[in-house]
Amino acid sequence: MVIIEGKGIGGSMVQGKLYRLQKTVDKAYTPLAPKEEERRFREACNLLDEELASLYERALTTAGEEAAEIFSIHRMMLQEGDLADAVSERIAAGESAISAITTVGEGLSIGFASMDNAYMQARAADIQSLIERLEGLLRGEGGQLPTFTEPVILAAEDLTPAQTVALDKDKILGFVTEGGSIHSHTAILAKTLHIPAVVNTGSLPADVDGKNCVLDGDTGRVYLEPSEAMVRICKEAQAENRRRQAELRSFTDKCYVDQDGIPVKVLANAGSMADVEAAISAGAEGIGLFRSEFLFMQYDRCPTEEEQYGIYCDVLRRMNGKEVIVRLLDAGADKTLPWLPSTHEANPALGLRAIRLCLRHPEILRGQIRALYRASAHGNISAMIPLVTGMEEVHAVRTLASELCRELDAQTISHNPKMPIGIMVETPSAAILSDKLAKISDFFSIGSNDLLQYTMAADRENPEVSYLTEQLPESVCRLIEMTARAAKDVGIPVSICGELGGDTRVTHKLLSMGIRKFSVSAGRILQLKEAISKETGLIKEKMY
Ligand code: PEP
Ligand code: MG
Repeated sequence: MVIIEGKGIGGSMVQGKLYRLQKTVDKAYTPLAPKEEERRFREACNLLDEELASLYERALTTAGEEAAEIFSIHRMMLQEGDLADAVSERIAAGESAISAITTVGEGLSIGFASMDNAYMQARAADIQSLIERLEGLLRGEGGQLPTFTEPVILAAEDLTPAQTVALDKDKILGFVTEGGSIHSHTAILAKTLHIPAVVNTGSLPADVDGKNCVLDGDTGRVYLEPSEAMVRICKEAQAENRRRQAELRSFTDKCYVDQDGIPVKVLANAGSMADVEAAISAGAEGIGLFRSEFLFMQYDRCPTEEEQYGIYCDVLRRMNGKEVIVRLLDAGADKTLPWLPSTHEANPALGLRAIRLCLRHPEILRGQIRALYRASAHGNISAMIPLVTGMEEVHAVRTLASELCRELDAQTISHNPKMPIGIMVETPSAAILSDKLAKISDFFSIGSNDLLQYTMAADRENPEVSYLTEQLPESVCRLIEMTARAAKDVGIPVSICGELGGDTRVTHKLLSMGIRKFSVSAGRILQLKEAISKETGLIKEKMY
């Protein structure tokens, strides 16, 4: 038995066979002679063609013909000569395959984007996504996941949020990644999906594929070819986990108030209807953060206003009158959208992401805000602005929102013009300006994941610096206190929706700082309610 140490992101112990995803072999990409480059390029085209064919089949069964169509369009573009011939020509003239693909792709997508016809313009995004995937394949990136017939434990260099969101929970018992960090979106998704996972193990042995293993998502250990004793421990841990889950279930319907009778609410973070169902089962008192980007990631184009409206209404219906806070598209950095062409940024976490990206693409923002306003006619829904750094971003969104309200009025489309518009406080700048921002925001939600990253200057994806954010640093504590006070002074609600809110080691501290609303992964709700129930000096169970 070999023990591999990494960082556990929760989810107890599982046992199963490892499946090794193709490793990234050459991120830096070393160009070879033209003949070799041509071979590499043709190989990448063949792989992509196979990938698109299987994506088509999968989409056909899960999402229907119309949705699957996009993959056959992509296959056609790949198979038709224009793109491939132009790339081969440049390779023959001495360019590397990557550089040739980028140049040809850019040329073609600019050509499509400048056409009059909207259908042809949309093909620019198709070209872009083909190019990005071809580049990825040339660099040896695994990309889309294969379809599994047997349940497996995935072993990978790393997983992107898009890959994690597409994991089939029935087939993936857990995953282990060589890189990654406990604060990454991939880790958050794994928690939400209740997938036991261990990240940041460093290089895994080359021959792990097909090996039996026990993965412990709590301790961060992976036992390769486990001993019988370890398999027994795993089974006992699973039984203990079931017992603990049953014990925690008694908290499902419990609600709490503080000594002044103010409710202490536990809501859920969600990114899909499946998360909403999990939230309901765990007794969530609302959805405090609907990460709309995870919804957007499931499309190969921008979801239409109508599609979004349908989904927001579904969430409201399922939440049955309880509050739902939808965060405006928080894409960019690690959360890239395949259909939204992005430019290379040296520091994407400090770049064009979240509200900055939305304001750069007002057509996306318009569609989303209109969909939210229309949904607001059917329930308690709010919009939340991600990554606010100052007053200007809030003013820009509010101005657009007022304009859209007038537009909906003129079209006699029902909506609630008073739909609350709040902000994420997840940058030090927003926390420092919280007294001013409180006057133009309907609520605050503290995004501790990014607040920790930006305050401590510690990339949340980089395991080398995660030690800086594993305990609640005093500086972040002060920013949270400052934000909670600013909200209280003007009487707007303040909640916490980052992972810190679900960390029961700091529940007492957060309550003492005035936080009365927590929004956490569904899998954390019951533990959090249990922790709140223990704060008998501050909190009482609410009696009906
Ligand atoms: C946060 O930053 O705390 C947050 C909730 O947003 P995300 O993790 O999606 O960036
Ligand atoms: Mg954030």
